[in-house]
Amino acid sequence: MIKPLAIHLNSHLSRIRSKMTDSCIFCKIVSNEAKATIVYRDERVTAFRDAHPMGPTHILIVPNKHIESVNMLEAEDEPLIGYLFTIARKLAEEEGIAKGGYRLIANTGPNGGQTIFHFHLHLIGGQRMRYPMG
Ligand code: AMP
Ligand code: ZN
Repeated sequence: MIKPLAIHLNSHLSRIRSKMTDSCIFCKIVSNEAKATIVYRDERVTAFRDAHPMGPTHILIVPNKHIESVNMLEAEDEPLIGYLFTIARKLAEEEGIAKGGYRLIANTGPNGGQTIFHFHLHLIGGQRMRYPMG
């Protein structure tokens, strides 16, 4: 596991709560109000296993801050989004799928197949991905 699972989340919880929507399941996972198999967590990002995995590895990497989708990204979010990719790379290494390759997906909006409106990166790997997409 990449290191900082045991972080001081409490100091961040009130800030996270102030921005979460009551009905957002990923906000609830971030704030520990809903259960998930957490594989990584720090003050900016939480990663957990998808409840319906599409491959041997299927991890969702989400910002702790509630951002609805790519459509709602602001300039100030750029470092955060870059950081999600860094965590994706580290998790891929930890899962042993970095060398073989994997797929990162950010479904956006209804036509993009987004069903949970809290921005997330899917990290899927451990098998050869099929084409075509869409
Ligand atoms: P998307 O369709 O891109 O919005 O992806 C949402 C993903 O979240 C799907 O792959 C679901 O299987 C997954 N999911 C929904 N609820 C949960 C949950 N409570 N814990 C883990 N994964 C979830
Ligand atoms: Zn949320």
